[in-house]
Amino acid sequence: MNTKNEDLFARAQKTIPGGVNSPVRAFRSVGGTPRFFTRGEGAYVWDADGKRYIDYVGSWGPLILGHADPDTVAAVQQAAANGLSFGAPTEGEIELAELLVARVPSMDMVRLVSSGTEATMSAIRLARGFTGRDAFIKFEGCYHGHGDSLLVKAGSGLLTFGNPSSGGVPADLAQHTMVLSYNDPQQLRDAFAKHGEKIAAVIVEPVAGNMNLIVPTQEFLDTMRELCTQHGAVLIFDEVMTGFRVGPNSAQSLFGITPDLSTFGKIVGGGMPLGAFGGRREIMEQIAPLGPVYQAGTLSGNPLSVAAGLVTLKKIAAPGFYDALGTKTKAFVDGLASEAKKAGVPFSAQSVGGMFGLYFAEQCPGNFAEMMRGDLKAFNTFFHAMLDGGVYLAPAAYEAGFVSIVHSDADISASVAAGAAAFARLKD
Ligand SMILES: *Cc1c(COP(=O)(O)O)cnc(C)c1O
Repeated sequence: MNTKNEDLFARAQKTIPGGVNSPVRAFRSVGGTPRFFTRGEGAYVWDADGKRYIDYVGSWGPLILGHADPDTVAAVQQAAANGLSFGAPTEGEIELAELLVARVPSMDMVRLVSSGTEATMSAIRLARGFTGRDAFIKFEGCYHGHGDSLLVKAGSGLLTFGNPSSGGVPADLAQHTMVLSYNDPQQLRDAFAKHGEKIAAVIVEPVAGNMNLIVPTQEFLDTMRELCTQHGAVLIFDEVMTGFRVGPNSAQSLFGITPDLSTFGKIVGGGMPLGAFGGRREIMEQIAPLGPVYQAGTLSGNPLSVAAGLVTLKKIAAPGFYDALGTKTKAFVDGLASEAKKAGVPFSAQSVGGMFGLYFAEQCPGNFAEMMRGDLKAFNTFFHAMLDGGVYLAPAAYEAGFVSIVHSDADISASVAAGAAAFARLKD
C-alpha cells in the first residue's frame, strides 16, 4: 500500500513540474518521496501520514521563532481582517523600514519587495545604474536567487566572464558576470587589477549557506571591501539567509564590514513572502521614483508580510535571544560530531548563530570545490536514517540547516540520539 505522501507526490507530478514549486523540495538529490506537510508547531512538523519530525529546515531559514509562532499568527490574522492588500502605503511599512535601518547601520534607506530573489535582482540593477557599469563578480557556490544575471557559472578560463548555469539565460547576459572562488582574496585582487574599471559590484553571501555552510575568512571580506572602495564598485552583502540568523545585526556586524548595499529575505518576513534591499542613501536615491533605476511591485510591502516581519524582528531583539539560539545550535552540531567520532564515521560540523553545516568529510570546507569532495552517499544514507528517526534535515547535502528558538534541550538530545542511530546505520 502507498503512503499518503506517495499518493500526493504521484498526484502532484501530474499538474506541477516535478511535483514541487521549488526544485530542492523534490528529494531528487537524496532519493525517495518528499514529505507533504500538513501542520507545523514550534520545533515540529507533521507529514500527510501523521508522522512527526523535529524540523531543522524551518522553511529554509525564516522560522527562527519556530512554526506557527502564536504572536506572529495573531498579528497576521489581525492584519488580514483589516484588508489583504492596498497597493498604497501603510504605516507598518515605515515601522519595518525604521526597524531595519536601526538594526543594520550600513543601511540609510530600504525598500521592501516580496522575495529574496527580487531583492538581489534589484540590488544588482541598482549597482549597475549607480556606477554606469555592467560587470559584476559573484562566487562559486553562492546562491542569490534565480535572477538571470545570477544564474551563471565560471567561464572557461580563470578571470574570464561566465556562462549560463540555467537554460533560458542568454549567454550575452552571463558575459557580464565573473565567478570567482570563495575565500580566495588573491583572485579578487587579480580580477580587479584586470577589470577594475568595468566592475559595478561584488555580491557575496557573507557567510555562505547555499553550498552547505562555508565560513568566510576575515581577509576575504576585508579584501573585497577595500577593492570595491578603491575601484568605485558597489559591495553587496546578500544577507537573505544570514540576516538576523547569525546575530542581531546580521553577518556584516559579526565581521565588522560596512557593505554599500544589503539584501534581506527569509527571517525579515517571519514566514510570509517579504524581501528587502537597502544601503547608502546616495545609492538608494537612484531608485524610482527618486531616480532613474526602475523597481516596483504590486504586492510590495504587503500588510500581512509586514505584520509577520515586525513581530519577528521585535521578538528576536529580546535580551539573550542569540546566545540561547547559538547555544542550542552548537549543542546539536557538537552532539552529532561526538556521535560520529564514536561510530568512526568521517564527519565534521560547525555553526554560526542559528545556522549550521554538517559535512561527511574530516574537515569543514572553505570553498565550493572542497565542499564537493564530501561523501554524498554517506549524507544521503544519513538523511534517510534521520528521517526515519523523526528528524527532518534539508533534503540535499549542499544546504545549511537551521535551529529555532523553540527547539528545546530535549528536542536537541532526541535529534542527537537519532544521529547516533543514523551513524551506526552508515557503518552497517
Ligand atoms: C534564499 C536565498 C535567496 C533567494 O530568496 P528567495 O526568497 O528564495 O527568492 C537569495 N540569496 C540567498 C543568500 C538566499 O539564501
